[in-house]
Amino acid sequence: DPAILWYRQDLRLADNPALAAIGDRPVLPVYILEDGPWAPGGAARWWLHHSLAALSASLAAAGTPLLILRGDPRQILPGLADATGATEVHADRRTEPAGRRCDAETHVALDATGRRLVLHRTALLHEPHLVRTGSGGPYGVYTPFSRAVFALLDGLPPPIPAPTRLRPATGAPAGLALDALGLLPKPPVPDWAAGFRDHWQPGEAGAAARMAAFLEEGLDGYAARRNDPGVIWGTSGLSPHLHLGEISPRQVWHAARDRGGRGLETFLKEVLWREFSHHLLWHRPEMPETPLRPEFAAFPWRRDAALLRAWQQGRTGFPIVDAGMRQLWQTGWMHNRVRMIAASLLVKHLLQPWQDGEAWFWDTLVDADLAANSASWQWVAGCGADAAPYFRIFNPVLQGEKFDANGAYVRRWCPELARLPDRWIHRVHEAPEIVLRGAGIVLGKTYPAPIVDLAEGRARALAAFAEIKGAD
Ligand code: FAD
Repeated sequence: DPAILWYRQDLRLADNPALAAIGDRPVLPVYILEDGPWAPGGAARWWLHHSLAALSASLAAAGTPLLILRGDPRQILPGLADATGATEVHADRRTEPAGRRCDAETHVALDATGRRLVLHRTALLHEPHLVRTGSGGPYGVYTPFSRAVFALLDGLPPPIPAPTRLRPATGAPAGLALDALGLLPKPPVPDWAAGFRDHWQPGEAGAAARMAAFLEEGLDGYAARRNDPGVIWGTSGLSPHLHLGEISPRQVWHAARDRGGRGLETFLKEVLWREFSHHLLWHRPEMPETPLRPEFAAFPWRRDAALLRAWQQGRTGFPIVDAGMRQLWQTGWMHNRVRMIAASLLVKHLLQPWQDGEAWFWDTLVDADLAANSASWQWVAGCGADAAPYFRIFNPVLQGEKFDANGAYVRRWCPELARLPDRWIHRVHEAPEIVLRGAGIVLGKTYPAPIVDLAEGRARALAAFAEIKGAD
């Protein structure tokens, strides 16, 4: 019997257990753009468009065109099964709450007509509900989780090769042209994605190329350089590819282990942070909206649209933060160390709700991932499961000096500061007038003065935290 391959966040042919389960039966590959909460933001939609174009081309070359639709899978899939005579729908298992709800209801809708929805582990190394503590519950802390998963991964089977030929199912209705999904920015909206094209190659081939380049250029030095945002290949840049499943974590795991080298263990541990985020989201579906530590519900945030805007636009007066926010806007990605510093300034010194920062990242990151984004924001804000202690407040000047010591990162993304000597590159506001003049900077005009006094902001954040601790 024919089968439907329902693509969601597993946009690849290689190492795709859902595709492998269909074997050499006729197959109808379909992608359905769904509405609903946490639909992809602007940058992720740009990526999705190009990823679907790449997938479509690979599937067509293998003999089966990709059917593209938009709407509610609960209604669409039973109709597609009727039209093609498919008895099974195969897909990846999702961890996002809305996706899980949709899958449960799709299962019921298909079941009512005698068809099956079969979900596979395609996006994670280990199913979130199968990793359990000694007492049988979910993990709330990363280190014991990662130890448990490491042990479980000992006999991880090798990736499944991509099929070369697929047999197309017949009888499917006509789908939409990719452009009809409207995923790209359209005039009169400015083409904010212009800078993305130079940085990324969405799709399975782009993911494989990035993996190969990282193994060659980055893995050995990873432990030493992963915190230096100015270094090219300091980290892998695989996150948007992993988010849409253009490469599987199993492919990444095996490729890294086969290559080996000094950075290996540190790198695999980072990959397990992704697993941990999904484990948390599976067990705490409220994570994207609600602090996991209940006392934070009463946190005295001071919502201020002007402060939020300055942060979003990279005009805070703290060079490492501004560089990060501009890298994000121009490329759809920001280095992890800088994400932590920028997020910390927003939620601590500026007392803006973490959900506002999370929403901005959701719209601007090409790797925007509900689990990783919400877990990370809660971690920075101190309200997450395994969170940084609240009182440990990053100082953006000292962080900049520590991790971007020669200012290479700041000079790249804040070119108006390029001529400042290293000594002042992270403390523009303290530079003597003569140094500023020599570098062509007029503070408050060509580069903003700091929007907050760091000592005052820190004291205010600690006082706010004391309020909720007192209420506890
Ligand atoms: P590498 O260092 O090469 O790591 C390899 C892979 O491991 C990454 O591709 C990613 O899949 C995974 N990984 C690494 N660190 C983390 C982490 N802390 N949490 C979860 N997975 C991790 N990551 C996202 O994928 N999507 C997000 O929406 C996202 N939002 C974030 C928001 C904030 C405030 C912070 C502090 C971090 C966020 N991260 C997010 C985590 C991390 O910053 C990125 O995964 C990382 O920068 C991606 O770059 P890379 O692929 O070069 O990472």
